Amino acid sequence: MAKRRRAFVFITGGVMSGVGKGVACASIGAIMKARGLRVTAVKIDPYINVDAGTMNPVEHGEVFITRDGDETDQDIGNYERFLGEDMLKVNYMTTGRVYLSVIQRERALGYGGKTVEVVPDVPLEVINRVKAAAEHHDADVTMVEIGGTVGEYQNVLFLEAARMLQLEKPNDVLIGLVSYLPIPTALGEMKTKPTQYAVRTLNSAGLQPDFIIGRSSVPIDEPRKRKLAAHCNIRAEDMISAPDAASIYDVPLHLEREGLGKLLVGKLRLRAGRPNLRAWKALGQRIAKNRNGLHIGIVSKYTASGTFSLSDAYLSVAEAIKHACWSIGRKPRLDWIDAEELEAHPKRVPNRLKGLHGIIVPGGFGGRGIEGKIHAIRYAREKKLPFLGLCYGMQLATIEFARHVLGLKRAHTTEIDPDTPDPVIHLMNEQEEKMKDGQYGGTMRLGEYACRIKPKTVARSLYGREHIFERHRHRYEFNPFYRERFDEAGLISSGLSPDGSLTEIIELNGHPFFMGSQFHPECVSHPMRPHPLFLGFAARAARSSRSLD
Ligand code: GLN
Repeated sequence: MAKRRRAFVFITGGVMSGVGKGVACASIGAIMKARGLRVTAVKIDPYINVDAGTMNPVEHGEVFITRDGDETDQDIGNYERFLGEDMLKVNYMTTGRVYLSVIQRERALGYGGKTVEVVPDVPLEVINRVKAAAEHHDADVTMVEIGGTVGEYQNVLFLEAARMLQLEKPNDVLIGLVSYLPIPTALGEMKTKPTQYAVRTLNSAGLQPDFIIGRSSVPIDEPRKRKLAAHCNIRAEDMISAPDAASIYDVPLHLEREGLGKLLVGKLRLRAGRPNLRAWKALGQRIAKNRNGLHIGIVSKYTASGTFSLSDAYLSVAEAIKHACWSIGRKPRLDWIDAEELEAHPKRVPNRLKGLHGIIVPGGFGGRGIEGKIHAIRYAREKKLPFLGLCYGMQLATIEFARHVLGLKRAHTTEIDPDTPDPVIHLMNEQEEKMKDGQYGGTMRLGEYACRIKPKTVARSLYGREHIFERHRHRYEFNPFYRERFDEAGLISSGLSPDGSLTEIIELNGHPFFMGSQFHPECVSHPMRPHPLFLGFAARAARSSRSLD
């Protein structure tokens, strides 16, 4: 049997980071998939960290969990949302991960006595990994996003991998550059020079872009397209204009209109059908058409720092709320609430939360701001405001209920107070040893686990079935010693692990919507398929919003 042809499209970044390289990469994948091609995507992060699990979300953005338990970058979440496919460990690598396998292989005599060198052995490992992802997903097209910006020292070996793979498969590898075209206010004119420099830098790494996506606040005009083409050694039609979009989900349609899908299929000489973008068009209409705002408060600790955008730490949560809102015809209005402020000024809680249609307390670690989150949860419980707690949010809802309803005043999680008389949230058995040994990296309860939902519960009615799988990332859990007391007081464990030992979902009887999940439903929400818990939460919030208005 002839070997299946595999094409690779590398996406590099020029001028500066944060201009939407990940969304561009995911969107190109989406328009290729719309042509009936099998597509997967790989993200390469230049950090020494073996995974994103040990990185602070303030610095790195959210940690996205894959089905098979990898702790990855938020771009992997974008690939899942845009491609509608599960990304796995094979879809993610970091410098640390690549070096680790080269060194482990060397220790196992895997190089047969030869000198192991940074070049070519490190790029060869990168190439092996990229090819393994393509094979694993049986992909016609593999999108490969190289993190960082050309010109930095950190990603040079990944550019080298792209160069070596292109040399090996000249007809099957394309290089794309996502660049930025600034319009300095004092000039009021779009400048192309930074992009020209970015291309020179790419050239000095032995790469010539096959196409350039020019990000800017406004479209690139024809004269500039021609100028960029001449200076960057591409054809004018290979210069794709990508102005700011109202929603990231407009990007696939925009790139298709710009002709990028046809261009890439032509360059790679792929046999592909006509693009079917109906679902994307329908989504675009839903986003444009939605009316009345739904005000959702997200009570969280990671506040803005420098140029960091707050919502990046909870990107999937924000997206999941949007997906649910759009599908019920409401405009998502997200209000980021600083938990530390609520902690410092408990009296401000009612004022701060008044007027919201629902609140979400997302995942987190450590003690900062948690009393503020507990105040917010108490307010939601007592005032019957729809509430959804995700992982830590669920654990804190358990603590709040223990303290103020069960009367266990010093109830806590042993993560924060190891000596609490009432450890309603405690370390999972399997975690004890790991913590003693200081094994922190990649050792949480990670990835997809099964859960059984009890009949006649809100969770069951939302999922519409008994058996579900959801993604986890935690060390602590609901302490089953207290389960009966919670059940009797109305905070029931409506979802359990299949052996009945772990509480995976809690819900409060007699409240319009008060739920918490030990897992992260935000990881699997899709723009075309909102997650049932977010949908249930948004629908209930929308109903109470009518009574509030
Ligand atoms: N810190 C908590 C735990 O480790 C919750 C983790 C999370 O929210 N992802 O169990």
